[in-house]
Amino acid sequence: MTHWLDALPDTRVLRDPAQTAGFRHDESHVRGPEPLAVIKPRCREGLRELVRRASSEGFTLVPRGAGSGKAGGCVPDARSVVVDLSDWPGSITVNTANLTLSAPASAGLAAVKEHADAQGLWYPPDPNSWPLCSFGGSLATNAGGPNACKYGMTRRWVLSVEALMADGEVHRFGIDSVKQNTGPNLAQLMVGSEGVFGMILGATVALIPRPREHLTLLLPLPDMALLPALPAQLFAAGFLPSALEFWDSAVLADLRQHGTDDARRLPGEALVLLEFDDPGCSHTGFLEPLLDALGPLAADAQVATTGAQREALWAVRRMTSVHLKQRFPRKVSEDVVVPRDRLPEFFARLAALDAKTVSYGHLGDGNLHVNLLHAGELEGTALDAALDPLFALCIELGGTLSGEHGIGLAKREAFLKHTDPFAIAALRGIKQALDPKGVFNAGKVF
Ligand SMILES: Cc1cc2nc3c(=O)[nH]c(=O)nc-3n(C[C@H](O)[C@H](O)[C@H](O)COP(=O)(O)OP(=O)(O)OC[C@H]3O[C@@H](n4cnc5c(N)ncnc54)[C@H](O)[C@@H]3O)c2cc1C
Repeated sequence: MTHWLDALPDTRVLRDPAQTAGFRHDESHVRGPEPLAVIKPRCREGLRELVRRASSEGFTLVPRGAGSGKAGGCVPDARSVVVDLSDWPGSITVNTANLTLSAPASAGLAAVKEHADAQGLWYPPDPNSWPLCSFGGSLATNAGGPNACKYGMTRRWVLSVEALMADGEVHRFGIDSVKQNTGPNLAQLMVGSEGVFGMILGATVALIPRPREHLTLLLPLPDMALLPALPAQLFAAGFLPSALEFWDSAVLADLRQHGTDDARRLPGEALVLLEFDDPGCSHTGFLEPLLDALGPLAADAQVATTGAQREALWAVRRMTSVHLKQRFPRKVSEDVVVPRDRLPEFFARLAALDAKTVSYGHLGDGNLHVNLLHAGELEGTALDAALDPLFALCIELGGTLSGEHGIGLAKREAFLKHTDPFAIAALRGIKQALDPKGVFNAGKVF
C-alpha cells in the first residue's frame, strides 16, 4: 500500500537512512536521531496535506534551508518530518522603483545578493555563510554578519513575509514598503523565529544603492590588550566601520601553523580586519584622519588597494570557522554578545575562565565567536555546565547568549535558565496562539 507521504502532490520523499543521514545535523555540534522522513515540497497542496497530517497524527515539521545553522535548529527528533525547502519554486525579482527584492525561501543568499548587485543595488545582510546558506534560513535565523555593526541584521531589511502557518494556508504578513505601521508586525515576528511559528516560503526585502567605494585595512596589533578598546577608539574619532572583525592570538597561532598559504602569512599578536564604505573613503582625505585616529597602531596597517586583495582578506576571514571545525571537529562555537563598552572587562575575565577558548568574530558590534575547542566531547548537563560561566559572564556585562546563530536546540537550556520567565511565558503564549498543536519545530528555542 502506498504510504500517504508518497502520495503528496509534487513532493520528493526521502526515507532511506542513507539519504536522510545528512539531515540529522547542521553545522553545530548537535546530532539528532533518524527523522520519520525528509520531504522536498514543490506545491502548496502538498504542504496543506502535510500540516493536516502533522496536526492530527502528532508529529512535527522541521523546516530546513541549507543546514548551515549553528544552533541545531533544523536537527530533527524521532517524531519529525524534515521539510527541506531547497526545491521550493519561485524566482528572484528586483523592483528598482520600490528598491525591493522578492525571493523564494529556496533561493541561495548568494543569488539574492547577486541579483541586487546586477541592478547596482545592495542587500546588506552578509553572514559569512552567504555563499552557502538559503534566503529562507537567513530570514528564519535573522542572520547577521560583519557589516551588522553599520547596517544591522536581516530583520532591519525585511518588509513582508509569506509563510505557511498551522491552518495549512500560506499567509502574507506586511507590505513591500519601508513605511507600514498597522499595529504589531507579524512579518517581523517570523524573522528570527527559527521555524517555531510557521514556515517561511518567501519574502520581500529592502535594498539600497550599492556603496561605490571601499577602504579595507588589515591591522596587526602588537598586544592583545589593545584589541577590546579599538571600537570605542574609532567611534570617538567619528568613524563607523562597515566591518570590524578580529582574530585573537590563539586563533592566529593556529591559522599560521595549520592554515592556507594566505592564513600562514597573517601578522600580529592579534589582528583586525577593518572596512569602510563611506563616500570618499578610498581617498587620502579619509585615510589620513583615520590613521591619525589609530595612532601607533597605524604603523603596521596594510591597505588593500585592489579588489583582489580585498577579496583575499575576506576569504581568510570566511574560512576561519571552517578551518577551526576541521582542526577541532568537537569544538563548540558560541556567538555571545557583549556591549562594546564592556569588551575590555570581558576579555580580561574570559582569560580567567577555566576553559580552553579561542575567539574571533565581529568586534564592531560586540558579537564574539568564542570557541571551546573540545567541549563537544561533553554531553547534556556536562556541556551546559561547561558553557554556563561564559553565558553568565556575558549576561552580567549586559550582553546575551547569541548575537546571530539563534537558540535552536544548542542553547535552549541556557536560554530558559537566563531569560526572564515572563518573556518565556509570553513566547509560549504566542506559540500556543499560532501553532497550538506544535506542528512547527516543536521542542526548539523555548
Ligand atoms: C562557516 C559558517 C559561517 C557562518 N557565519 C554566520 C554569520 O556570520 N552570521 C550568521 O548569522 N550566521 C552564520 N552562520 C550560521 C548560518 O549559516 C546562518 O544562521 C544561516 O542563516 C542559516 O541558513 P540555512 O539556510 O543554512 O538554515 P538552516 O541551517 O537550514 O536552518 C536554520 C534555522 O532556520 C529554520 N529555517 C530554515 N529555513 C526556514 C524557513 N524557510 N522557514 C522557517 N524556518 C526555517 C530551521 O528550522 C532552523 O531553525 C555561519 C555558518 C557557517 C557554517
